[in-house]
Amino acid sequence: MSNPIVAIIGRPNVGKSQLFNRMIGKQMSIVQDEPGITRDRIYSECEWTGKKFLLVDTGGIDRTEEDPIKIMAQEQVQKALEEAALILFVVDARDGIMGEDKEVAQRLRKLGKPLLLVANKIDDPAKMYMSAEFIALGLGEPFCISALHGTGVADLLDKILEIIEIKKETVPPRHPRIVLAGRRNVGKSSMLNALSKEERSIVHDTGGTTRDCVESLVTLQGRDIMVTDTSGLRRRVKMDEKVEYYSALRTLQAIRDCDCAILVLNADEGIVEQDFKVAHQIQEAQKASIIVVNKWDLIEEANNPSEAKKKKKEWLDIIKTDLYFLNYSPVIFTSAKNSKGLNPLVSEIEKVMAEYNKKIETPVINKIFQDAQNLRPAPSYKGQQLNIFYVCQTGSAPPKFTVKVNSTKLIHFSYKRYLENCVRKSFGFIGSPIILNFRNNKGN
Ligand code: GDP
Ligand code: GDP
Repeated sequence: MSNPIVAIIGRPNVGKSQLFNRMIGKQMSIVQDEPGITRDRIYSECEWTGKKFLLVDTGGIDRTEEDPIKIMAQEQVQKALEEAALILFVVDARDGIMGEDKEVAQRLRKLGKPLLLVANKIDDPAKMYMSAEFIALGLGEPFCISALHGTGVADLLDKILEIIEIKKETVPPRHPRIVLAGRRNVGKSSMLNALSKEERSIVHDTGGTTRDCVESLVTLQGRDIMVTDTSGLRRRVKMDEKVEYYSALRTLQAIRDCDCAILVLNADEGIVEQDFKVAHQIQEAQKASIIVVNKWDLIEEANNPSEAKKKKKEWLDIIKTDLYFLNYSPVIFTSAKNSKGLNPLVSEIEKVMAEYNKKIETPVINKIFQDAQNLRPAPSYKGQQLNIFYVCQTGSAPPKFTVKVNSTKLIHFSYKRYLENCVRKSFGFIGSPIILNFRNNKGN
């Protein structure tokens, strides 16, 4: 399931963006500064006590708009509200109930979504009584906070998780998920159609106003896999800048929610800016991945076999250089249009997902680290030498290893990369990132 969305709404100046920033600041990781637009960030993946959700500040979508009803009418605000697992309706306790608050409250009631009323700007806890009048909005008791000082925000986060957790429990077990990611017209939809052929058993086209992802349950080599095609995201909506925000958000979610991301490139066009963006999202999400160079038929048509072979080599070189951060991903050449190269792709999906979930026995991984150190000891730093005491795999999908050392300060990124390469050399982990978490050994 995608990370649940929590949307912040309220009239201008009640402190939405302050609250947004405060919530992110609370031990939360800003994962993405997407989609590369310099305006205010409006969404961020948030983590609290190990649980994640996606926070959206609807006020950040158009800061020039003053009228909250008009703000709510904006397409991407509506979408955020429709998709939200929870809405935080922020009011300004100092101002008391304003006419606009009443209008927003009325609309929110109609939506029938889980909702928390948040009375902000209670900087002095002795003034919590100021929030009492908001009960008249008919949205339950307000949650008193000061976004400025952070008072009440931790409790609010606990409450948020309590509410969205209840929803999560009802979600059925999921199929492995792959996502076809890439810019427009590279052939994602064609690939989904070619992959699914008659075998597509469910077509879950969630188009329309609420969702734009096309999800299909496809049987690939006897295994049911949920394939998400992100192209629907862009196709159905008018491409203006604001809508672009929302599409990018959904693509990002689809990538974050998958097990294996397939980056689809266009053989006829080379690698462009948008391809880098998607590639980075895949890498940052630490997903298994495969790079597909589609429309290979066009290259074969325009070149004789030996030239086409040369072009293939050129493509591999370009990928190696330009997408070096995904250097562990296998590369497959396909023609979705002619259903060519799809069997190797399906085999690769199987392989990569197995690698992503692979577990290595502790004695075996320790031996590899030992050998790696013997072969090339870590360079010393300020007279001190890095010592690796013990390694064990502490997670899979993606594979994570905890490495106990004498001092984490002594780890140089080049040595870390060397160790990663040693792990890769021994165990492959094809298509999968490898996470090495260095920890100081107890007593150091
Ligand atoms: P938004 O338009 O709803 O996103 O509101 P902002 O987050 O931009 O905040 C509007 C103003 O209220 C800014 O000057 C903030 O510094 C201020 N503000 C936000 N939260 C608090 C708070 O808890 N206490 C006080 N005193 N001021 C706040
Ligand atoms: P999407 O936006 O990434 O989903 O791309 P589509 O699947 O809609 O394809 C965009 C265009 O490229 C369409 O006109 C397809 O017919 C064409 N196309 C897709 N795959 C191939 C291919 O392998 N070879 C060729 N020559 N055209 C392709």
